[in-house]
Amino acid sequence: MFDQKSSPQHEKVIVLGSGPAGLSAALYAARAELNPLVIGGIEPGGQASLTDTIENYPGFPDGVGGAELGELFQKQAEKFGARIAYEMATNVDLKVHPFSVTTDSGQYKADSLIIATGASPIHLNVPGEKEFTGKGVSYCATCDGWFYKGKSVAVVGGGDSAIEEALFLTRFASSVTIIHRRDTLRAGAILQKRAKEHPSISFLWNSVVEEVQGDTKVSGLRVKNVITGEINTLPIDGVFIFIGHNPNTGLFSGQLDMDEKGVIRVNTMLETSIPGVFAAGEAADSHFRQVITSAGMGAAAAIQATHFLENHS
Ligand SMILES: Cc1cc2nc3c(=O)[nH]c(=O)nc-3n(C[C@H](O)[C@H](O)[C@H](O)COP(=O)(O)OP(=O)(O)OC[C@H]3O[C@@H](n4cnc5c(N)ncnc54)[C@H](O)[C@@H]3O)c2cc1C
Repeated sequence: MFDQKSSPQHEKVIVLGSGPAGLSAALYAARAELNPLVIGGIEPGGQASLTDTIENYPGFPDGVGGAELGELFQKQAEKFGARIAYEMATNVDLKVHPFSVTTDSGQYKADSLIIATGASPIHLNVPGEKEFTGKGVSYCATCDGWFYKGKSVAVVGGGDSAIEEALFLTRFASSVTIIHRRDTLRAGAILQKRAKEHPSISFLWNSVVEEVQGDTKVSGLRVKNVITGEINTLPIDGVFIFIGHNPNTGLFSGQLDMDEKGVIRVNTMLETSIPGVFAAGEAADSHFRQVITSAGMGAAAAIQATHFLENHS
């Protein structure tokens, strides 16, 4: 997209990430006439684009498709001058101002940086999981649910994402077994009620997956009851894993203050430990983890980046 032979392209604001936080930051920075560059990574729209329907983003009383919402965010940011490059940031140097960003296809300098790199799914780390990823192990029901028409699947997890995705999978699968390590769900009340009342959904409580089994593709799970210690094999055709997320912040390790999980520490002004570097969304928040909260943080980070640039020009 850009001329890579000349010296690094110099930007007033670079936004890293094209999820709800990044695209909201881009919208606000664009409307402040900062002509932001979004280095968007490989997941346009972010995690939100992986889910079928989002019912809790205000302004859409009938819900909105996850991918559609991402496209609308992007269109609105571009309308005001944001530019989006779907490149992956591979290195940053925040010690020297202007900051340096290296991507898989170029080099940039930025007077201000907004980090919105979000989070990625946590793996079970059990035998068979890696081997059968894409052959029955999935982290995205919207992407892969269709392959399980009339089949039996399991969903691992008990939070909002797990229950939402289990409900989505009932459109295709003949049975959905939710495997949860506790005896209560963390998911919101409405989702819990829908899942518990759904005729195709059953629950395996107090249970953990010990192994994903199969030959060329998944055929079952070895599941342990954590109370009794009993081990059983659950025959299934696919397993969808939704047990939480890790922040995508490895790039900034050693350069920015982070908590023990790698979540970037920000103050109420979305400022990180380095002036001019702001962080928003799930890269800086492991608590709320919603489209609306991530978008709100992105907007706030861009407002603060605008103030920073006004005071340092
Ligand atoms: C299955 C599922 C269902 C969900 N359902 C809902 C729901 O119904 N309602 C709701 O409010 N929330 C829902 N969420 C949560 C919501 O999607 C997230 O809270 C939100 O997307 C977080 O936004 P974010 O911008 O912080 O990060 P993300 O959405 O994680 O986006 C991160 C962005 O950073 C980019 N990136 C990562 N690393 C780099 C790099 N090195 N260089 C450049 N770019 C990079 C990625 O490409 C991506 O564009 C759901 C999540 C999942 C997984």
